[in-house]
Amino acid sequence: MGDYPSFDSQTQRFTTYKKELGNPQAISSDNITCLAPAGPGKIWIGTFGGGLNLLDVSTKTFTRIQAQKGSAKPADNLKILSLLADSHGALWIGTWDQGLLRYDVEKQQFLPYPALGLLNEKSITALVEDDEGAVWLSTKSGIYAYSYRTNSFKRYPQLNGEYHINAVFKDQGELFFGGNKGVVSFRPRDLKSTAYVPNIKFTGFKLFNKEVAIGENDILATNILYAKKINLKHNHSLITLDFAALNFPFADYEYAIKLEHFDEEWREIGTQRSATFTNLAPGKYTFKVKARIPGENWGDTFEAIHLVVQKPFWKTWWAYLLYTVVAGALLYLFYRYTVYLETLKNKLRLEQLTHEKDQELNKIKLRFFTDVSHEIRTPVTLILGAINRIAEEESGQKKTTAIREIQKNGSHLLQLVNELLDFRKLESEGFKLKAAKGNFAEFVQEIFLSFSSHAENLRIDYGFSADTDDLDLWFDRDQMEKVVYNLLFNAFKYTEAGGKVRVHLKKEDEYVYLVVADTGKGIPEATLSKIFKRFYQAEQEQEAKKGGFGIGLSIVKRIIKLHGGTILVESAYGKGSTFSIRLRRGDSHLQPNQKVPFPLQDHLPKYWEKAVATGPDEQLQAQAFAGATILLVEDNPDIRQYVRQLLEPNFQIVEAENGKEGLAVALAETPDLILSDVMMPELDGIALTRELKKDVRTSHIPVILLTARTSFIYQKEGLQIGADDYVT
Ligand code: ADP
Repeated sequence: MGDYPSFDSQTQRFTTYKKELGNPQAISSDNITCLAPAGPGKIWIGTFGGGLNLLDVSTKTFTRIQAQKGSAKPADNLKILSLLADSHGALWIGTWDQGLLRYDVEKQQFLPYPALGLLNEKSITALVEDDEGAVWLSTKSGIYAYSYRTNSFKRYPQLNGEYHINAVFKDQGELFFGGNKGVVSFRPRDLKSTAYVPNIKFTGFKLFNKEVAIGENDILATNILYAKKINLKHNHSLITLDFAALNFPFADYEYAIKLEHFDEEWREIGTQRSATFTNLAPGKYTFKVKARIPGENWGDTFEAIHLVVQKPFWKTWWAYLLYTVVAGALLYLFYRYTVYLETLKNKLRLEQLTHEKDQELNKIKLRFFTDVSHEIRTPVTLILGAINRIAEEESGQKKTTAIREIQKNGSHLLQLVNELLDFRKLESEGFKLKAAKGNFAEFVQEIFLSFSSHAENLRIDYGFSADTDDLDLWFDRDQMEKVVYNLLFNAFKYTEAGGKVRVHLKKEDEYVYLVVADTGKGIPEATLSKIFKRFYQAEQEQEAKKGGFGIGLSIVKRIIKLHGGTILVESAYGKGSTFSIRLRRGDSHLQPNQKVPFPLQDHLPKYWEKAVATGPDEQLQAQAFAGATILLVEDNPDIRQYVRQLLEPNFQIVEAENGKEGLAVALAETPDLILSDVMMPELDGIALTRELKKDVRTSHIPVILLTARTSFIYQKEGLQIGADDYVT
């Protein structure tokens, strides 16, 4: 070693300068690191450990620059990395371990060191002068510039980086430095050294550690680079924002972040270029990030992006509105309901009270009526008995209209009283069916007959028809009697003279129909549905005259219901009414306890028995009849035989098979007493009695009607025509 090659461009050959050519002490090291022009024929040679040397090309001598003036340090063993001879006549020396030195060529001395005091760098890797005469130098950590004007160094933090030895180049004013991360180029004029703020951009957004695509779930409207806002759902609980300061790749920036409305202060996160947040509460945030070159101050500028975390729908204002509305509605409903309930309760209580009161009043009324009826009945019965006797005595034409009037109204009064008592009895004891099998046609006909004289008196066309005379049916005689009686009684009551009343019986396989039709005044349509109600009476002026309590039809309906039948009414006001009763044949519809083996004869209403006991009979019984002649008028030979047997021991018996014959016998024999059946061919019992009572020869003879049925109706009818008593 020891030779220094030199290239001659003219000869195109290398000349080697041996170190022996000059002062052997001049160069203590072989390691030449850099060269710089030193004026004509001279070259500055920097060595690594051998200091700065000046080569005189013509004399081929090296001169070593000995010592640093103004400093105790010797210069002969400097480790030089770079050299720059600038236009101001200074030689800049970048050393390995003693920083930057400046050598004044004219004065042949190192300029005072303090002038360069700003610079603390120990290794200066490259030197270059820009077009404006500023000296640029790179180090292991950055780039500086020295200005003659201010005689000071300036550092450019944005150019921080590790720069390599002599990796520098100038091209038309633009400077290039090379380092471990590449080449940096810049125009010195464009650089600003103060308040340098790195330019930050958001580079990515991740949800649950996954990059979010544009438009996905409406989170990002555009590329994150340009986005101003990120929309998040309440359940987007893990988000990551990536960002970077752009400018120069050499610098490792430091970052600080702040999430407005979440962080109070800026958080310094070092060189980390992402921020992660978990479980952000719904709300609006602004994410801010700023950067700095390590060691520099944080600037005021930052990049920001808005984060909106939406409330879950159940926490939105309209959800709360909904809750409020629903809660309000519920409260209101509850309130209404409570009020309603309370009102209802009160109403019910009131109703109950009223009802109880009504019932009590009703009871009291009924009891009063019954009591009064009881009291009235006895004297009325007695009065009637007396009147009858007077009528008997005043027989024939002598019977005055007054007596007839008294008789008629008396019996009407008695009937009313009885009806009341009957009703009272049914009310208190309830309706119990005691149905037995019997001939319904005969039964109806018998009642029909009992009204015939009444019909005659009223001059009403009265008729009966039946599909058959023999009509087996299960029915309660006592109760059904009230039904038929009531229907007929009403028909007569509401039909004027000259009108018609018809009774018809119809037989079908399953049902029996009883139809009572009249041509009376009829029932207004509006009241049709009410007439079966208790105490209902059509409110018409005439009604008062007719009397009654409005209970007849209610009893009828209940009895028919008990029989499993139905009752219908058709009526045309002013034209007449038709009541149809439909009864079921057979006994399959009856409960065992509703049936009795044969018609009961012994459950006469108590009042009736009493009426009989306290009635005219008493006086009759008192008379001695022993040995008297009794005429027995009865079409049924068995019954005739039976009655004869009963009476024969005490009386003389004459018989007749029907009314006509009976009348003849009565005239011929003038018996003391006549016992007559009601239902008979030729002349029935009622007609017979009427004939007998009309005739002076026979009118005095007491008549007792025999009937299978017992009812007050016969008394009424009978009393009207003059019968004295009834025997079942
Ligand atoms: P009342 O004792 O008043 O006759 P009812 O219960 O027997 O009581 O009848 C109720 C009402 O039905 C009567 O007041 C009357 O207005 C009406 N009514 C019943 N039957 C007839 C009929 N055949 N013709 C016209 N109206 C009738």
